[in-house]
Amino acid sequence: MTKRFETDVIHHGYDSKEHFDSLSTPIYQTSTYTFANAEQGEKRFAGEDNGFIYSRLGNPTVRHLEERIASLENAEAGLAFSSGMAAVSATLIALTKANDHILCSQGLYGCTFGLLELMSEKYNIQSDYSLMESEDILRKQIKDNTSLIYVETPINPTMKIIDLEMVARVAKEFNIPVVVDNTFSSPYLQRPIDLGCDIVLHSATKYIGGHGDVVAGLLVGKEDFISEVAMTTQKDIGGILSPFDAWLLLRGLKTLPIRMDRHSQNAENVVEQLKQHPKIKSVHYPFDHNNPDYEVAKKQMKLGAGVIAFEVEGGKKEAQAFLNRLSFIKLAVSLGDAESIIQHPATMTHAVVPEESRLNMGITDSLIRMSCGLEAWEDIWNDLKQALDQM
Ligand SMILES: *Cc1c(COP(=O)(O)O)cnc(C)c1O
Repeated sequence: MTKRFETDVIHHGYDSKEHFDSLSTPIYQTSTYTFANAEQGEKRFAGEDNGFIYSRLGNPTVRHLEERIASLENAEAGLAFSSGMAAVSATLIALTKANDHILCSQGLYGCTFGLLELMSEKYNIQSDYSLMESEDILRKQIKDNTSLIYVETPINPTMKIIDLEMVARVAKEFNIPVVVDNTFSSPYLQRPIDLGCDIVLHSATKYIGGHGDVVAGLLVGKEDFISEVAMTTQKDIGGILSPFDAWLLLRGLKTLPIRMDRHSQNAENVVEQLKQHPKIKSVHYPFDHNNPDYEVAKKQMKLGAGVIAFEVEGGKKEAQAFLNRLSFIKLAVSLGDAESIIQHPATMTHAVVPEESRLNMGITDSLIRMSCGLEAWEDIWNDLKQALDQM
C-alpha cells in the first residue's frame, strides 16, 4: 500500500519484527561484519550474497535511511554521506571527466562554487552560470562537452527560482542528466524527480536533520547511478555517514512535514512585516506575491520554506551593525534549525566567491540571509524590528 508523505517519513521501510520489536531503528554501531565461512565471504565480495561486508560499503542503520530518503524523493535508490559537500563532490566527480563542461544555475552554495573552481584548475572542467530563463537560452548554453546540468533552486541566498520541469525537458533533448541541490526545499516541499530531473542531493545538515546537531549529505537517483557512486566515488573517496548520524536523520525526518509547515508560515509572516519597514531596501522570498518567480515557485513548491534574504539600507557597516543588535536570533551560518539563525553572505557563506561573480549572483554588501526558526513569529519579528528601528 502506498502511503502519504507524512506517513512514509515515519514508517517507510522499517519492520520492528526484524529488530527485536524495537520501535526506534537500532543503531548498528559496527565497523565490520562476520562471515559464516570463507565461501560466504567470497560470495559477498563477488556480489552473489547481499549481506554486509564493512561499514564503508554499507551499514543497516544507514541503509534504512537511504531507502527512506529514496522513497520520499520518489527515486529508485539513495546514498548517505558524511556531509552535503561529500554528496556534491562524489556526484560531480562521478559524472565528469577531464575537459568536460558543466552548466550551473547562477548562484550556488559557496563551497560547491569552490569545488567547481578546483575542478577547473585541476582537470580543465569548465563551468558556466545561467539563470536558465527559457528553453532557447538553455539550448544555446549547452555545449558538445556538457556532461551535466547542476541546479540549485531556490538559489542560495537570493531565492531566485529555476523552472525544473523546463530544464529537465531541454536536458532530455541532449541526453544529459540534471542534478538538483534540493536542500532549501526538502522533499516535503519539492520533488525534482517528479518534475523530470534525474539526480537529487541534500545537505541533510539543514531541514532533514532539522535540529542543528548533525552534518550529513544525501543523494538519490536511478539504481545504476547510485550503485556506481556507491562503488566508486563514495567507496574509494570515503565520505560515508556514521550509523549514529543516520539515526539522528531518521529521527529528524519524522517531524519534517510539521516543521516545514511552521518554518514556511513563520517566514511568510515575517516577510510581510519586513516589506513595510522603512530601513528595508528589498526582500527576497519564493512565495512573496511580488517575486517575479512567484508563478514558477507555486508550480513546483508546496510552500516557500523558511529562508528569507533581505537588503538593509546602507552597506557592509550598516549590515554588520544591524546583526550585532539582534537579541535572541543567533548569528550563525546554517539553516533549517529550530532556532532562527542569521548571517551576512558577502563576508561569510559567499566570502570565497570573487566580488564580481558575487555581485552577479545578487549578493550585495547589504544582503542578509535569515533562516526562520520554529519560535513564535511575533518574537522573531520583534527582534528584527528593534534592530532595524535603531538604524
Ligand atoms: C549547507 C549546504 C551545502 C553543503 O552541505 P554541508 O552539509 O555543509 O556539507 C550544499 N548546498 C546547500 C544549498 C547548502 O545549504
